[in-house]
Amino acid sequence: METTEVLVIGLGPGGASAAGMAAHGGAQVVAVERRAMIGMPVQCAEFIPLPLGRYATAPGVCIQRLAAMHTYLPSGTLHRADYPGLMIDRAAFDQALAAQAQAAGARLWTGTALVALDAANNTATLWHDDKPFTVRYQVLIGADGPHSLVAKAAGLAPQPCLHTRQYTVPLLQPHDATDFWLHDDYPGGYAWLFPKGQQANLGLGVDKRWQRELKTPLDRLRQHLIRSGRVGAEILARTGGAVPVGGLRPTLNTRNILWVGDAAGLTHPITGAGIAAAVLSGEMAGQAALDFLGQGTALDEYAEELEDHYGPVLRRALAQRQHLQTFWQHGQPIDDQTWQAHWVGA
Ligand SMILES: Cc1cc2nc3c(=O)[nH]c(=O)nc-3n(C[C@H](O)[C@H](O)[C@H](O)COP(=O)(O)OP(=O)(O)OC[C@H]3O[C@@H](n4cnc5c(N)ncnc54)[C@H](O)[C@@H]3O)c2cc1C
Repeated sequence: METTEVLVIGLGPGGASAAGMAAHGGAQVVAVERRAMIGMPVQCAEFIPLPLGRYATAPGVCIQRLAAMHTYLPSGTLHRADYPGLMIDRAAFDQALAAQAQAAGARLWTGTALVALDAANNTATLWHDDKPFTVRYQVLIGADGPHSLVAKAAGLAPQPCLHTRQYTVPLLQPHDATDFWLHDDYPGGYAWLFPKGQQANLGLGVDKRWQRELKTPLDRLRQHLIRSGRVGAEILARTGGAVPVGGLRPTLNTRNILWVGDAAGLTHPITGAGIAAAVLSGEMAGQAALDFLGQGTALDEYAEELEDHYGPVLRRALAQRQHLQTFWQHGQPIDDQTWQAHWVGA
């Protein structure tokens, strides 16, 4: 049996940041990732707000700077807002954060999945090379995304999620804004086109309770953009994934377990953005693990800090989402004014 002070499950931006912070502070850290290669395949539209740029300085991470956010309201009216940010190569971004954690002394095990947790005995069963083995930890950090097994094993409820489908397409006209479409075709979510040099990520997210099928509305938007000369007909890559939209989890820690990023419900319930919160909560969790190990500080302080930092914004966004939900669930159209009262950039 292996032992470690800190065990991190998942090496997305949340887990890598947590592992890096804890290792940097001198803790013994093992961080595991079920994928063979960190960050691959990418399941992201790859936009980060400008302040997060300080984490995107490694070679090959930053692809393009954006200046604005364009929102197409249901009537077709275009609303422009300043919103500076960066388009990144998300795989390179995640890999750079993981490399920093490794340089700080964390041991990173890829191709290694958490399969079972015995929280009462502080042991995790991991699966690598077709074999199970056990790791005993003092602190466990659940950074394992929207469907966190760490959360499930600890008895936390599943999170409500948006489902997404995204194509990478050739971009025929240079663009320096994120484009969003708010429309009844996308109940529970919206569609997007994010430019990335000569390519763009074109996708949509919906709540499957009200729109089970994602291909038809996405292809309809793609055809519209092809006809208007903005994108080419080729599909260069396909992806998708789940985005939690239930807001901050009511439980963010137990005695010696912490959740970060998507596993903690930190994605914004209206926009679905979650990279920045994953990185920052990861750092906070890494520091909380150090304080727990060094000074015996209760992990409740992490939950309080997270609540102070994100609680008000996420609760407001969740209330807005719940209001929009009254339209989606009855199949009622949402007009421009209602969307403008609830959308971040309109
Ligand atoms: C299509 C799509 C587009 C998005 N676009 C944006 C965007 O443009 N900007 C933005 O800010 N946010 C975006 N998001 C949200 C963003 O991707 C997430 O908020 C962010 O990845 C959260 O980071 P995380 O580290 O918490 O979780 P994740 O990035 O999900 O990382 C979790 C990791 O844990 C691993 N894992 C899971 N289970 C186990 C297990 N049992 N054992 C071992 N490892 C495990 C997974 O393989 C994964 O690598 C998008 C999401 C989707 C689905």
